[in-house]
Amino acid sequence: MEGCIFCKIIEKKIKADIVFENKDVIVFKDIKPSAPVHCLVVPKKHIQSIAHLEHGHKEVLAEIIYAAKDVAKNLGLKGYKLVFNVGKEGGQVVDHLHLHLLGGWTRKEDIDKMPHPSIDK
Ligand code: AMP
Ligand code: ZN
Repeated sequence: MEGCIFCKIIEKKIKADIVFENKDVIVFKDIKPSAPVHCLVVPKKHIQSIAHLEHGHKEVLAEIIYAAKDVAKNLGLKGYKLVFNVGKEGGQVVDHLHLHLLGGWTRKEDIDKMPHPSIDK
């Protein structure tokens, strides 16, 4: 896709710190990390966002989640967050579907700060 920064990374026209790659997916470090470990899990096929998924993309989506799980394991992450920003109003800046893999927090105060939904009945 013309002008897409993630397509350029996939085509190796722009450098990135790549941590994993297979025929469907590339994973690289976010240039502006918001967590001690912040990677972007990106399908090689240019799909704009989760909102633009079609039935034929189901396998690609599964590949992204599996890649995220494998990378998290290889990086030794005990727990992590997987986040899709969808659309401008959802905070999406790069219009090439990507899954944020965030983790690596070790300080108790950081972990305690995390939102835990109530399960009280
Ligand atoms: P989003 O807001 O969900 O679209 O996230 C886009 C992410 O891409 C942001 O966290 C950026 O820091 C990251 N990003 C943008 N350009 C690059 C790049 N060239 N290499 C690595 N990460 C990038
Ligand atoms: Zn793209």
